[in-house]
Amino acid sequence: MISFYAYLLLIYMDTLGKEDRSERMRRVRAKGNRSTELKFRMAITRRGIGGWKMHDRSLPGCPDFVFHEVKLAIFVDGCFWHGCPVSKRPLPVTNRVYWTNKVAYNITRSQQVDAELRSKGFEIMRVWEHSLRSRESVTRLLEELSERLQARNPAVNSSRRRQREHS
Ligand SMILES: [Zn+2]
Repeated sequence: MISFYAYLLLIYMDTLGKEDRSERMRRVRAKGNRSTELKFRMAITRRGIGGWKMHDRSLPGCPDFVFHEVKLAIFVDGCFWHGCPVSKRPLPVTNRVYWTNKVAYNITRSQQVDAELRSKGFEIMRVWEHSLRSRESVTRLLEELSERLQARNPAVNSSRRRQREHS
């Protein structure tokens, strides 16, 4: 996730030269996304949902989580980077064109990735960073995930999958 601190850092970076900016941006993004993924990872682990793999580079867009058995790919999207319509985090004041293009590119890229994955028979679930902030919305997300997993493969129950993964 992009924390408030990271957001301030973005504004600060905005005052830097272009090369400095892209290097630091890369680092902020990598770090920000890791902590959001970690939250999601902990949530599904606590819930006893297994059978997933992280960062599968063999698939388009390198999904954050993949359930190969039921062909479900999950992406955890940062609110800033993906232009979340709910969080409405304003873009930094300067270099507005640069940031606008960056976010627009990410949105287009995600749509392409989704289309490629669907053509390979995958279902996609996109999780917003902000939906991992409250316990209620995390619970809702996990319920949705469980339902989708069940719907994709009613024969497999998640606890059996978990046992297999740990054996
Ligand atoms: Zn959001």
